[in-house]
Amino acid sequence: MQLNNQEISKKNIFSKTEEELQYKIADKVMQLFFPSIHEPELAENMDLQIANIVYDFLNASNANTNIDLNSLIQKFSDSQVPIEPSSFESYFKYLTNNIITHSIHTSSPRFIGHMTSALPYFVQPLAKLMTAMNQNAVKIETAKALSFYERQALSMMHRQIYSFSDNFYAQHIQNNQSTLGILVSGGTIANITALWCARNTSLGPKNGFGGIEKEGLALALNFYGYKGAVVIGSELMHFSFDKAVDLMGIGTQGLIKIPVDSNNRVNIQVLRQAVAKCRNQNLHIIAIIGVAGTTDSGSVDPLLEIAEIAHENNVHFHVDAAWGGPIIFSKKYRHKLAGIKQADSVTIDGHKQLYLPMGIGMVFFRDPHLASSIEKEASYTMRKGSFDLGKRALEGSRPGMSLFLHAGLNLIGLKGYEFLIDESIRKTQYMATRISAMSEFELLVKPDTNLLTYRYIPEPLREVVAKKQLTKTDNLLITQLNENLQKMQRQIGRTFISRTTKTITSFDEKISVVALRAVIANPLTTEEDIDAVLNDQIQIGSEISMLSFFAN
Ligand SMILES: *Cc1c(COP(=O)(O)O)cnc(C)c1O
Repeated sequence: MQLNNQEISKKNIFSKTEEELQYKIADKVMQLFFPSIHEPELAENMDLQIANIVYDFLNASNANTNIDLNSLIQKFSDSQVPIEPSSFESYFKYLTNNIITHSIHTSSPRFIGHMTSALPYFVQPLAKLMTAMNQNAVKIETAKALSFYERQALSMMHRQIYSFSDNFYAQHIQNNQSTLGILVSGGTIANITALWCARNTSLGPKNGFGGIEKEGLALALNFYGYKGAVVIGSELMHFSFDKAVDLMGIGTQGLIKIPVDSNNRVNIQVLRQAVAKCRNQNLHIIAIIGVAGTTDSGSVDPLLEIAEIAHENNVHFHVDAAWGGPIIFSKKYRHKLAGIKQADSVTIDGHKQLYLPMGIGMVFFRDPHLASSIEKEASYTMRKGSFDLGKRALEGSRPGMSLFLHAGLNLIGLKGYEFLIDESIRKTQYMATRISAMSEFELLVKPDTNLLTYRYIPEPLREVVAKKQLTKTDNLLITQLNENLQKMQRQIGRTFISRTTKTITSFDEKISVVALRAVIANPLTTEEDIDAVLNDQIQIGSEISMLSFFAN
């Protein structure tokens, strides 16, 4: 009933000979590779059109578009590939009407609900340079200078975390036996890589046993005399750890989640007990995780105390500082990360508080030889003793993202990053103060860094909140209202805040409630923007409250 692609195309070119058609396609395709020779205006046109669109996109005042998801799905439900090359003009029109207009303005100063924000301008020309050069960081034969440049950028970051001696860095920075850090696509892969190294090192080759890398988990546990293996950390650990334990073969039941205190920091006493219990049960602890900046609320675990527990038990200590890592740039706040120096491995995301494009995850190692435990070779590449970065990495081919990292460290610098971190925390404190002063809101936790959780309180319940006498039913009502408020706010699209769930205590009972979640990191966000977001929520909140009163 349906014409296949070839039949359609034959119909369209009925009058042309096969030869003419082949020539036309070859010509069109080759033009795409050499636009400047065949059609000088084409390249110029592409650049100009993109520049205009980017300008408009970045200067839009709203955060979201109000198209509903079902209409979007309709737009993307055709899976046919066009037979002949399309023109850039028509494709660009398609992009503008269907993608660009319905994308999220993550750089909007009033989009303050997620960890994705405005980027410095220099990343745009650098992105062009990176794709134009098309270096493949997997091996020296496709990257050359970039391999050493990447190692240098990672060492610069390593030095900020561990501050070892000049001698240490001179010895390891360009030593192909050493790995100070690995550049990966994101925090998820960084966390997985860290645990992979911890697993392989702790269950390595010994007395004739080939090690877990060679013989697998079952034989390794058997050889070492363990009943099973686990990873332990806070219940607010990022969900990348669920992926990691699944991949490592220990199952998500092998991820032990320790409750947090009222400040969202892991409960050290319970952690200590869990570690003792695992040891009593003969379970191998692959790693203990400390979170420096939880995705949920920005809280920082007591890293010094966790380090002590890990040290006493001779267990790998990993710090997930994907979000909070760059706080080390701030003289005023770096004390919050005290203990990070003792970590055996640390994750930091460049695409969060280093203000770099997505695709820059990093994992750092205290011991420059820890990553030898995951090293792989291949005869056509990844030769032993080479500088090929892919031999100690989960990923294979990958782009030269180190360009952004190195550039950011140079163009923004320590002082620049310090300014950005300090400003974010200052603005978060401003927002917390505003929220505390307004009866329309309740601050749920005093912010540790630059995330904030709070909720809107409908008028009739404001006095009850002030007296701390909310019942479970009141909380249920407030939860429903806040969930609707957040959805409505997102749909209207003037401003944006995300939502999460928090456990609170109401009359000695622990209950789960919905909280609004602000992430204050966009350098373009001003106090005025923060006020605008709160006012938007008050307006939407009061409208919903009215509606629900009529409904009741
Ligand atoms: C964002 C985040 C991750 C995951 O990073 P991706 O880059 O999204 O893969 C892991 N841990 C924490 C604490 C994070 O905030």
